[in-house]
Amino acid sequence: MAKPILIGNWKNNPKSLEEASELLTALGRKALLYKKLSLSIAAPYPYLDAVKKKAAKYANLASQDIFFESEGVHTGSVTPDILKSFGVKLAIIGHSERRALGETNEVVATKVKTAFMSGIIPLLCIGELERDEEGRHLEFLADELKFSLEGIRRKEDAEKLIIAYEPVWAIGKRASEAMSATDLAEMVIFIKKTLTDIFGREAADSIPVIYGGSVDATNAESLYKESGIRGFLVGRASLDAKSFCEIAQALISS
Ligand code: PEP
Repeated sequence: MAKPILIGNWKNNPKSLEEASELLTALGRKALLYKKLSLSIAAPYPYLDAVKKKAAKYANLASQDIFFESEGVHTGSVTPDILKSFGVKLAIIGHSERRALGETNEVVATKVKTAFMSGIIPLLCIGELERDEEGRHLEFLADELKFSLEGIRRKEDAEKLIIAYEPVWAIGKRASEAMSATDLAEMVIFIKKTLTDIFGREAADSIPVIYGGSVDATNAESLYKESGIRGFLVGRASLDAKSFCEIAQALISS
């Protein structure tokens, strides 16, 4: 069976290289545990080298975004070839915090294609801003997924894709405000159905769906056990070595 997936999204943290090194030292104490997972750390670019040196034995390097062009001259951008030279294996694409800055589904689809061309695994983030009783959030989510994958239909691409379902209303809150396992189970079925419409049944079945949004040690086990997700994308709790380790433990023992 495939290993559970755990991805730490450090966002713009920790606030200095020194603090990032301390966090890596603390994470490294549980290297044997992390090896039981498919673990990736998405650190800010200036910390990639430190992550590579201190965590490469138990974690893959990930980026929090990818530039949509793989060639040409682009002042201020970190192009996929540079990411690859550091050993980046996976890129978070279409995170809600980037979409909030104006990133459209069209741009996201271009970035997903660039990731495939560069041999970097795209972790495509989708998630509704809010839920409503009429179910309009389902329509929003299906459209977001379809348009973020516009022009991507090959079975070989589907097999390399990971979807992170991150309802925006559940991000950065307390665990008690995260999505419930029952609601999450329904959403996983809905996302799988939409992926089947796009890629066909067999390819859709191969795409892991992970969850992000206020996961910590208190809700990780039930969310993982009861919803059909394959792992977590974790923001805040990935900055605390103890909490992150507890989430890892929940994934392994479930
Ligand atoms: C995120 O922003 O990707 C995320 C999951 O954040 P948090 O875990 O802090 O809700």
